[in-house]
Amino acid sequence: MSDFLRSVSPADPSDELGCFPVWDADAVDEAVRRARAAFPAWRDAGLEARAVAIRRFRDLARARREELAELVAREVGKAIWEARAEADLLPAKVAATLAEGMRFTEPMQAGANAWASFHPRGVLAVLGPFNFPAHLPSGHLIPALATGNAVVFKPSELAPAVGDWLARVWRDAGLPRGVLEIVQGRAETGRLLALHPGVDGILFTGSYAVGRSLQEETLDQPGKILALEMGGKNAMIVLDDADLDLAVSEAAISICATTGQRCSSLSRIFVERSRIDELAGRLSRVLAAVRIGPPLEPGVFMGPLISRAAFEKVMRYRAQATEAGGERIFRGEIDRLAPYIAPSLVRFESAEQRHPYQREEIFGPEAALYPVAGLEQAIDAVNDADYGLVASVVTRDRSKFEHCIGRIRTGFLNWNRGTIGASGRLPFGGLGRSGNDRPAGILATLYCTFPQSHLENEGDFDAKSLPPGMPRP
Ligand code: NAD
Repeated sequence: MSDFLRSVSPADPSDELGCFPVWDADAVDEAVRRARAAFPAWRDAGLEARAVAIRRFRDLARARREELAELVAREVGKAIWEARAEADLLPAKVAATLAEGMRFTEPMQAGANAWASFHPRGVLAVLGPFNFPAHLPSGHLIPALATGNAVVFKPSELAPAVGDWLARVWRDAGLPRGVLEIVQGRAETGRLLALHPGVDGILFTGSYAVGRSLQEETLDQPGKILALEMGGKNAMIVLDDADLDLAVSEAAISICATTGQRCSSLSRIFVERSRIDELAGRLSRVLAAVRIGPPLEPGVFMGPLISRAAFEKVMRYRAQATEAGGERIFRGEIDRLAPYIAPSLVRFESAEQRHPYQREEIFGPEAALYPVAGLEQAIDAVNDADYGLVASVVTRDRSKFEHCIGRIRTGFLNWNRGTIGASGRLPFGGLGRSGNDRPAGILATLYCTFPQSHLENEGDFDAKSLPPGMPRP
């Protein structure tokens, strides 16, 4: 291994978090072999024995919460309030998985002599994104381990130190050798791991482009399960009876949290025409006052983007807004250098969305307002998207929200809430380019296992059960 990942904080180029060797094909192969060797004993240990190590991980994660939060804030530039919230999700994931997620894998009975059992798949590859470098890999790791799989984990190349931290805490929790292997590297290491014939499943959280390439490249490995959690182009509907304080506040938080780098970040706001001017003015004023600064500084809401390359990508999209037919009605200013960025707002005069600016995931604090004539047009506009992760409806009338349930094609539909945030005790997944119908969250235990159905006969041979034409033995 002669190549290295140098982890440097996006907020401060002098803050170096470590240097991590990039794993080559031989090293990935060895990690998969170690995991394969560890799998049978971990599977056969049973849930109670596995839960001992998993609960120890929970206790250590709780005790080291502040250490993890600071590491996340430094490595990916996430404001400390958010990094702490992320750190808190790890113990919560353990609790939800052991108390509720495992129930989905309990034996299923279908009459006296027919039942099904659920079993770990073997070795699962977990590929993590940068934006929740501890929480999202853990969303796969914890259920994969609880159900009895061995795991090989490749953290994002933009967050290797957080990945390394997770692996160390699992080791300190007493996980047997080989049950959780970590490999560090960029796309090529991820590819080597995902396509390895010794890997039984790919649990991926990341962009549509990479998820799509994984689907394409595994066509000849149909037995390898793919759980793809991908991007979003999330929408909020604001109806004419909405509480505008609530709409503005929820929209601003959903645009700016994690500097717009969440799969659930808000980018499309469909507003009934009578309220659009007022909403545009008020939302612009709130966005202008959002506090942007170093992630560890108290009171800062939003840190920088993950990298200079991410900044340039957002800027390329911003430059296309006018060509797409929009008018930039607000562009925040900051006195900091890239990858720090300020939020921005564009307004369109119809709900038509044809341009890539309007359809692709931008992954920055950038949102567009669209006028709509009423709820039905708003539903059509939300559904006119390639992604289908989150939508929200802001209205004082609950029946209007209920009308949207099932008609809006997204994995989440919120009422009088923004698009970000989710319950760990519910399914987490999206339609279209947002996923492949293998929801994570509380249902993650399902894709970590395979069902085996059983028909039983406790008695001896019974001639009366022979079908017509079948002779006695
Ligand atoms: P990414 O797709 O660039 O990378 C994700 C992981 O895949 C990284 O570990 C990367 O090294 C690896 N990878 C890259 N190319 C690969 C290849 N060819 N084969 C195998 N592995 C490969 O994503 P990112 O930029 O880290 O994260 C942002 C994206 O993740 C956004 O699109 C965001 O919406 C999405 N996301 C989705 C969810 C969800 O739950 N739906 C949650 C968070 C983020």
